[in-house]
Amino acid sequence: MSDGTVATCVLVVLALMASPALGAADVGAVTEAMQQPGRHHLDIDVGAADQRSSVPVSVLVGDREGPTLLVLAGVHGSEYAPIVAGQRLANTLDPAELAGRVLIVHVANMPAFLGRAIYVNPADGKNLNRVFPGDPHGSLSERIAALLTDQLYPLADAVLDMHSGDGNEDLNPRWVGFYERAGEPSVIARSRAMAHAFGFRHIVAFQWELADRSKAIWAGSAAIALGIPAIDVEAGGKNIVDEEAVAAIEEGVRRTLSHLKMSTAVFPAVENQVVIRQRSWIAAPEAGTWIALKAAGQQVAKGELLGYLTDWHGRRRFEARAPAAGLLLLILTAPPVRQGETLAIVAQID
Ligand SMILES: [Zn+2]
Repeated sequence: MSDGTVATCVLVVLALMASPALGAADVGAVTEAMQQPGRHHLDIDVGAADQRSSVPVSVLVGDREGPTLLVLAGVHGSEYAPIVAGQRLANTLDPAELAGRVLIVHVANMPAFLGRAIYVNPADGKNLNRVFPGDPHGSLSERIAALLTDQLYPLADAVLDMHSGDGNEDLNPRWVGFYERAGEPSVIARSRAMAHAFGFRHIVAFQWELADRSKAIWAGSAAIALGIPAIDVEAGGKNIVDEEAVAAIEEGVRRTLSHLKMSTAVFPAVENQVVIRQRSWIAAPEAGTWIALKAAGQQVAKGELLGYLTDWHGRRRFEARAPAAGLLLLILTAPPVRQGETLAIVAQID
């Protein structure tokens, strides 16, 4: 009985501490952990009323001073290779060998992860990677974006936003993207250097210009808008834990730590990196059943048939043909398609 009373009191005190500002007490716990050398695992509360979620974050603090790297995974809940890579790094990176701090956000979009959802957060039907910089008083996806943009990004000197092909996407080869035309020249230069240092052979130089912060709707671009160098990692897909992709991401993060002088590990140089500036998207003109005829990673000729859409009765309605010769970077694997969704992406390589 008395134990119950004590527990109730503790709960009331915790509720009072948590209530004034959204998630403030929890982000306070992150900044507190950042002062203590070692390995810390925390869960940040986000949301309100019927839309609540928890964001698992590991904080690795080195014995020596250095920059803070934020590693972000699970913005899309069915992109497993980066999530698993982040979870492994959280327990295998040795804080004693670090200069600075690594913050790893394991699953930004927990409702999508637990709901096995592609593209959107089932709590509000929104694509988290289209609602940045977010809104601390909005729906759950907007609140998660605001938590990242307003509270976690400002703690970091650099951001790695990690994705894969979504649960219904075949993505190959793996690539690292950076914004070549958005942000201050020094931010662009540092992002470009990080993209190359990550060590993947293919680099995508995004050509979007983000004239104001409200245009920075992607997780990585929201960091750029704050003046923080950022890259977008893409490896794995097809709803599986692709162990090759997981290992490549883990090595990429370790290479990034070395590049930022946060570790003394030495890696062999990567030769012959390829920069992609031009990509063509093929969108579904209508909803239908998609049948893919190619796999990502193949070279395709202009006009080559990549797959087709049928209506609900199996009648062929649309043929997806390569708009240009190039490398098939991404192609859908699963049949259900809504109007306007991307069926395939072809990269033209100079
Ligand atoms: Zn994604």
